[in-house]
Amino acid sequence: MINIEELQTTFRGRLIQPHDPDYDEVRQVWNGYIDKHPALISECTGTADVMDAVKFARKNDIEVSIRGGGHNVAGSALCDGGMVIDLSKMRGIHVDASQKLARVQGGVTWGDLDRETQVFGLAAPGGVVSTTGVAGLTLGGGLGWLRKKHGLSCDNLHSVEIVTAEGKLITASQNENQDLFWALQGGGGNFGVVTSFVFHLHEVGPTVMMCAIMYPIGIAEKVLSTWKEFMESSPDEISGQALFLTIPDSDDFPEEAREKDVIAITAMYVGDPDEGERAFQELRSIDTPVIDLSGKIPYTVANSMFDPFFPKHERNYYFKSKDLASLNKETREFLIEGAKNRPVSSMLFAIWHYGGQMNRIDGKDTAFGSRDTTFLFSVDAIWDDPADSDEVISWSRQFLDKAKRFAGDGMYVNFSGFGEEGEDLVQSAYGDNYARLSKIKTKYDPNNFFHVNQNIKPKN
Ligand SMILES: Cc1cc2nc3c(=O)[nH]c(=O)nc-3n(C[C@H](O)[C@H](O)[C@H](O)COP(=O)(O)OP(=O)(O)OC[C@H]3O[C@@H](n4cnc5c(N)ncnc54)[C@H](O)[C@@H]3O)c2cc1C
Repeated sequence: MINIEELQTTFRGRLIQPHDPDYDEVRQVWNGYIDKHPALISECTGTADVMDAVKFARKNDIEVSIRGGGHNVAGSALCDGGMVIDLSKMRGIHVDASQKLARVQGGVTWGDLDRETQVFGLAAPGGVVSTTGVAGLTLGGGLGWLRKKHGLSCDNLHSVEIVTAEGKLITASQNENQDLFWALQGGGGNFGVVTSFVFHLHEVGPTVMMCAIMYPIGIAEKVLSTWKEFMESSPDEISGQALFLTIPDSDDFPEEAREKDVIAITAMYVGDPDEGERAFQELRSIDTPVIDLSGKIPYTVANSMFDPFFPKHERNYYFKSKDLASLNKETREFLIEGAKNRPVSSMLFAIWHYGGQMNRIDGKDTAFGSRDTTFLFSVDAIWDDPADSDEVISWSRQFLDKAKRFAGDGMYVNFSGFGEEGEDLVQSAYGDNYARLSKIKTKYDPNNFFHVNQNIKPKN
């Protein structure tokens, strides 16, 4: 039990402890598999609360974790027996439409930000699920529908306000604390608690053309090879994923399509929707689809179309990725065979296409590790029955192990399972940038105070 008396004198937010009636609710994160018991959840209302929380934890030698949107599948937003510095109530946003900038507090979700920016026909590159936190996603890189046109989320940072391990608030940008700014563009929650981000915004929508077509898994090779060729020569306006999935038995889908195993081609055209419609014609006429949900829709709707697959805390998640060395025939056959043998139908396989602006930026210009890859493969294991946990997790691990022979060197730190491989995993995610990250960690957090994350170790 932590004595909160001293912290209570200044802290404006709620300090929640195990005896509080809503403790069990507040300690839930997105992943239903995670069951951690923090001794204290400090719900910060602003920067001053964050500074006090950090100083209090330092003084009393309490382990801390940082919570933004609570989406991390490893549950790194929480820590057992320690203190959660919880920013989930800090959801203020200020859009400066004339400067195309948005200041965003550390607990904002992509849905929140899309709502405020789209009023002005603007957007910051985010993720593909609206409930995900801006903070964790951006600090790890940030893959979304705008990645080829405008880069990763972290590429669109103008500046960041961060509370360091000493409890001081500093700004990092291209002009101030440049080394820290570089590290925050992909280096995760290793360097402090980000209280606000300023993003560059771009003109997007408000209507976009989406491709969302599902073909029978029996013709997956034909679909995947066509998709590969298409994506590799596609313009920056098109970002997309190929997904293996089973259409849910839900009213959202026509009865005849439900429970069918499919390969889904999903992509957004960031530009004139009519041009997008023409551009997607090739992907929409590969063969006879099971279902074609493509169409012109509001950007905010497109950015939340995957939300129903990922309800909060009701389902269990294990997402783990590898860069692919190529998507040649042998690799495709391996992935298709694996997709057909998924242990539960709710498990997804996702192949993300990289390219355009996100790959044009030099790999050394930001901490994000994988700029020279064209495809990322991710096992997105989702399951409902806790009794399936061991089987699903060990199947996913074994499959990814077998996938090593088709893999490149890297992986995406935000899809890293439970981080089981520790430092090896983090090193493989950052590749050549790891040594520089470790040096910056040593400067800003020499005692590794912020270590409940994909941890970059300070040099001893
Ligand atoms: C359903 C789902 C969909 C996803 N979709 C995408 C996607 O489209 N694109 C993509 O790139 N990723 C995606 N992800 C992965 C996502 O980027 C990571 O899970 C990320 O960690 C989520 O950030 P969060 O703030 O919600 O998470 P949290 O669990 O709150 O935080 C995760 C970690 O981020 C750090 N962190 C969080 N907030 C702060 C802060 N304010 N200051 C400093 N450090 C902080 C901490 O180290 C923390 O442990 C998805 C994940 C899920 C579960």
